[in-house]
Amino acid sequence: MAESKTVHSPLVTYFSVLSLLTLCPPFVILLWYTMVHADGSVSQTFDYLKQHGLQGLIDIWPRPTATAWKIIACYSAFEAALQLLLPGKRVEGPISPMGNRPVYKANGVASYVVTLVTYFGLWWFGIFNPTVVYDHLGEIFSALIFGSFVFCIFLYIKGHVAPSSTDSGSSGNVIIDFYWGMELYPRIGKHFDIKVFTNCRFGMMSWAVLAVTYCIKQYEVNGRVADSMLVNTVLMLVYVTKFFWWEAGYWSTMDIAHDRAGFYICWGCLVWVPSIYTSPGMYLVNHPVNLRTQLALYILVAGILCIYINYDCDRQRQEFRRTNGKCLVWGKAPSKIVASYTTTSGETKNSLLLTSGWWGLSRHFHYVPEILSAFFWTVPALFNHFLPFFYVIFLTILLFDRAKRDDDRCRSKYGKYWKLYCEKVPYRIIPGIY
Ligand code: NDP
Repeated sequence: MAESKTVHSPLVTYFSVLSLLTLCPPFVILLWYTMVHADGSVSQTFDYLKQHGLQGLIDIWPRPTATAWKIIACYSAFEAALQLLLPGKRVEGPISPMGNRPVYKANGVASYVVTLVTYFGLWWFGIFNPTVVYDHLGEIFSALIFGSFVFCIFLYIKGHVAPSSTDSGSSGNVIIDFYWGMELYPRIGKHFDIKVFTNCRFGMMSWAVLAVTYCIKQYEVNGRVADSMLVNTVLMLVYVTKFFWWEAGYWSTMDIAHDRAGFYICWGCLVWVPSIYTSPGMYLVNHPVNLRTQLALYILVAGILCIYINYDCDRQRQEFRRTNGKCLVWGKAPSKIVASYTTTSGETKNSLLLTSGWWGLSRHFHYVPEILSAFFWTVPALFNHFLPFFYVIFLTILLFDRAKRDDDRCRSKYGKYWKLYCEKVPYRIIPGIY
């Protein structure tokens, strides 16, 4: 449980838990309400709340309906079935702090393709119209807020009574256990990995499904799709496609290899990703901005370039680790640090830290193109309203905090070797500045 205790002080953790529990659910609903019913205008929603107070919030909060539950249940069951049944290569995750090596089935791309083809097929053949999802979006978010909370209680209980591996344990504090999670790799049976489901197959997949939904809704309302919506949808789809292409790489990142399955990561992936991450597209449904072809193409190309650079940073690190440093980085032998560390079970192991290529520019350079990509799929909304930019601002804060968390964790893992890396690569995120 080392990470959950050392990453943030208990005070910060309590504050985050309370804020997440009390502020995030109403925020999700208010964001949806503002985008869909208040023209994307924060001041309009603010005036409404000023006039009607708490009762106003209760009045606009949609109750989860049977349709919403049905949509969520069908989608979850479909994704779970694809995760279990589609074939895929056997992939070993990184060695866990307890010395375990989780095994996965890499069928993300197949699941992604089957999901989108099925969704388009249902629409095309008139079996299910995606506009139903948009029309019930508030109820769906409301159901997700409640359902995911119950799911996190299940994770907490499972962590106590039936952990799937030795990478599990209690910090001795109920709130911290619930918030940060108990298990690193919870599973149902031997093969159904819960974090792969919540983070990838539910959360990230819903991003693509909702991006397509918003596009179809605009088409059905206006009879055409504005170029701004096209740029937004294409960039988001390229991003999610990149994610599934690299999904096995994601299984060795902080989310999976270090963050335990608790409220922080699972509620975030089940509720925050579908609602907040997709919000620029949600805004564009009712704001068919016309950018003109040239500007649209510039934004599209800039966005794709950033997504590619972000992908290449992750690829470079993973290729470097996979080949034990025996690869070329930007055409040259990589420069590196051999860092030794001790696992919780007392074994001494070595890790390689790459100090050239993207990883020589700054210690978390990959966050720069990540933030810029989000900017490029949001900027088609132009600057009439602030709210579409909320995700970019949120992401910037999240990644700056994450870079700090990761640095702290790596410092305590690698000690003097991390200090050496910081001397060689002094900037944390933005080369020359921060
Ligand atoms: P990663 O897990 O990919 O990288 C950090 C880890 O890599 C460290 O914990 C360390 O792990 C290892 N490492 C650090 N420095 C080096 C080095 N120089 N050489 C080799 N290994 C090193 O980071 P993230 O999980 O934060 O990011 C993964 C991807 O996900 C990125 O593309 C990011 O932009 C994206 N992302 C997107 C978010 C979103 O909400 N849109 C949120 C977070 C990430 P070890 O213990 O193995 O040494």
